[in-house]
Amino acid sequence: MESSTHPVPSGKIAGRPKPTRPKRCLSCGTSLIKPNRRYCSKACRHQINWVLSLSKGLLRTFNARYAAFCFTHEHVILDVLPVWSKEISRFICARSNGKKPAEDLKNLILESGREWHHLVNNNTSKSYASLSLLTKNNKENIDPGSIKPDAKVRPRLSKHETSCLKILRLDREDLSSDEHKRKIRTAYKTMAKLHHPDVGGDAGKFRQLAEAHQQMLLWTQNPQYTSRKALQGSWSYDGYTNRWSPPL
Ligand SMILES: [Zn+2]
Repeated sequence: MESSTHPVPSGKIAGRPKPTRPKRCLSCGTSLIKPNRRYCSKACRHQINWVLSLSKGLLRTFNARYAAFCFTHEHVILDVLPVWSKEISRFICARSNGKKPAEDLKNLILESGREWHHLVNNNTSKSYASLSLLTKNNKENIDPGSIKPDAKVRPRLSKHETSCLKILRLDREDLSSDEHKRKIRTAYKTMAKLHHPDVGGDAGKFRQLAEAHQQMLLWTQNPQYTSRKALQGSWSYDGYTNRWSPPL
């Protein structure tokens, strides 16, 4: 199994790894995924979602306002920012050979849970057990702002519009700026030079291209966008909604 090529966190960990291209499965990190997919398989998607929902018990116990999960070749990393704190606690464990990040995260969660229960069974109050685990893993050199998710705006497109975008060889990101009209025209002109029947192009392809161009110009007359809160390169948890969001 191939995993993510995020840079490895060194002794002084100041943030979380940035995402890398080409696109990788959000769950296991393999680059063997189909275009426009976020996961290599349904099973892989289910696995990470199951483990992340398992983590909610621990995050509730820690009274987490925000949390972030990411993985590298060497580690799985769960950062937690409690409601009452200005500092992040980092739960980190080494990746085990041949296992998916979700399995290592599951073990990290279960291990931390066991540690918490052990403290409680030894007559420590629940809140003090949480506090001592968080303090033990406290990392004051990580910017707490780095796990607060940003609202990310994306163009809302129908299936047909998405295929038109493909014909023009444009990305969704190309529609995110005010320049979208210009980008669509430039893409059309570039592709027309390839497909115009006058230069030996295929008439059918040229017609398809012209239609895609018209359809996307129509979209720019009343562009629709959706917005979701997420983190670049990390899964992000919001304690208010008790939900995990996939990375951008
Ligand atoms: Zn996968």
